[in-house]
Amino acid sequence: MAARVLVTGGAGYIGSFCARALTAAGYEVVVADDLSSGHPEAVDCRLVELDLRDRAGLGRLLGEGFDGVVHLAGLISVGESFEAPGRYVDVNVRGSLSLLDAMREHGVDCLVFSSTCALYAPSDEALDEDVALAPLSPYAETKLLIERAIELVRRQGLRAYCLRYFNAAGAAADASLGEAHAPETHLIPIAIERASRGQPLVVFGDDYPTPDGTCVRDYVHVLDLAEAHVRAMERLLAGAPGEALNLGTGRGASVREIAALVSRCLGRELAVELGPRRLGDQPSLVARATRASRSLDWTPRWGLEDIVASACAWHRAPRYGPGRGAA
Ligand code: UDP
Repeated sequence: MAARVLVTGGAGYIGSFCARALTAAGYEVVVADDLSSGHPEAVDCRLVELDLRDRAGLGRLLGEGFDGVVHLAGLISVGESFEAPGRYVDVNVRGSLSLLDAMREHGVDCLVFSSTCALYAPSDEALDEDVALAPLSPYAETKLLIERAIELVRRQGLRAYCLRYFNAAGAAADASLGEAHAPETHLIPIAIERASRGQPLVVFGDDYPTPDGTCVRDYVHVLDLAEAHVRAMERLLAGAPGEALNLGTGRGASVREIAALVSRCLGRELAVELGPRRLGDQPSLVARATRASRSLDWTPRWGLEDIVASACAWHRAPRYGPGRGAA
């Protein structure tokens, strides 16, 4: 019988790719999502509308019998987290604690958790998992609190991978799944949107200590991220204890480089306008992902050109728009 996996936040951007990849790998997948920002159209399997803070509802669902959970549900906007830190603690931390409690009650001991490279203290070097943790935003702080809770619950038999994503980007090759946030805050979709409208991209600061002064990020294809989740779940179900792993490519690109790539991909001019720095931004976040490569036998298959090309194709013909919670 196929192992059953619950994907929380499976109607969201990364979650929908994970649910699809797990299904393709032979798992029976159920998605739980509160649909505050997710897209029912992005879910090909059974979808249960559920807020993780609804402990009773979660208990009923997990009581159906699951072998593992991939947990991506949560609020993701760094900027918003400065304005409403309490809400981030409530949704992200309380939701995750409710999930851990329900998993314990129902004997589900395999967890893949969606974490972030924003946990790391600023560094000029590529980041491995041993760099000091010093989140700069309430959003990242909630992810760290959840990682810590997971570490404690290991003592009760939980096995877990905390996957620290670098910058997820890109869309399905056939443009059947892609990124549709509202409001959109991520660089690649914003740059595509601006170029398509003939508007300038506002660059948030160009006086960072980086080669061209703009922030450097490690963009990793969402298809590669999804594959890492499948491998992590496989290993947990085979008895691996799990660990914290970086998911990135090891290659950094600056905001200006992304603007140039988008412009080339669309064959349209993209003017760049200087704006102020954005609160909570780190100058450079590039992964050293050798541990993930060793532990999960995972190497990203897609490069930056593929990411931008797939995101451009999705932008031309998105299958769904902003979710119910759209501003
Ligand atoms: N960025 C920018 N203009 C925008 C959106 C983003 O200059 O309109 C920059 C942002 O400051 C960061 C980088 O692009 O340095 C990537 O931002 P994104 O929000 O995509 O990801 P983050 O690294 O913040 O998770």
